[in-house]
Amino acid sequence: MTDLYAVIGNPIGHTKSPFIHGRFAGLTGQDLNYSAIEGHAESFVETVQGFFRAGGKGMNVTAPFKLQAFEMADERSERARLAGAVNALKYENGRIHAENFDGIGLLNDIQRNIGLPFQGKRVLVLGAGGAARGALLPFLQAGPAELVVCNRTHAKAQGLAGQFAGFGPIRAETAGQLAGRHFDIVINATSASLRGELPEVPSAVFEKAALAYELAYGKGLTPFLKQAQQSGAQRLADGVGMLVEQAAEAFVWWRGVRPETAGLIGEMTIPLI
Ligand code: NDP
Repeated sequence: MTDLYAVIGNPIGHTKSPFIHGRFAGLTGQDLNYSAIEGHAESFVETVQGFFRAGGKGMNVTAPFKLQAFEMADERSERARLAGAVNALKYENGRIHAENFDGIGLLNDIQRNIGLPFQGKRVLVLGAGGAARGALLPFLQAGPAELVVCNRTHAKAQGLAGQFAGFGPIRAETAGQLAGRHFDIVINATSASLRGELPEVPSAVFEKAALAYELAYGKGLTPFLKQAQQSGAQRLADGVGMLVEQAAEAFVWWRGVRPETAGLIGEMTIPLI
């Protein structure tokens, strides 16, 4: 029998996950069917349980259900616990296991695909929402010289810096405190670009940056990427590589086989103009 997988979110019409996992299945010769489900907050738990009862093996979870999925899981990885959110579920021996691959997907895209190791680098993360939280543990484990979190609501960045302090050199700073500072990698993990807005950050942070990375994808040159380009960042990237790499991590977790990602990222990349 063909194994069943799905992504659940709301809205879900825009999702690229069925396309990505369908391609992975073809590349690795795996027999599976991957669909998209529109979830609703009041019936989310029943929908997920029903999917697994009907033979589903795994799910991706996207906005706005990452916290609800975290709460309903029977087992949570350390990454998921620290992020407080999950983007992948696996049903095994009657139990729901939860993971968060967003951060490792982002790290893999920067280190492996873009070719920029975090070891010894000065890294600035803008934002303190779910995506930022999921990235901090993998980032710190990759050995940066410093990891600074800057968020519009400073208290949230301070909370994260405190929570992750035991894992490496992390600090929270306001946009004002960043004046005159330089970073090697600057990551926009805010959702500002989804509304065409610019998160507040001094232009100098980009002057010596090897990379400015925008988590949103398919939006072309966002205000953040434009500011980075004009301020001297050597390379720009959006989140399409992260999207494919987090999917690859989930695929390995579910199927035990790693799909090749470079060809698909190339195919899905829209030029940043
Ligand atoms: P959340 O809603 O959890 O967090 C949003 C964050 O953005 C908060 O820190 C918020 O600050 C900040 N923010 C929102 N608007 C502005 C603004 N105008 N100026 C400054 N800061 C702002 O979102 P997520 O963490 O889930 O998602 C963040 C981004 O990452 C989105 O663009 C999303 O599409 C992208 N993403 C990409 C993925 C991929 O695979 N490529 C995967 C997951 C997410 P405050 O705390 O002050 O409200």
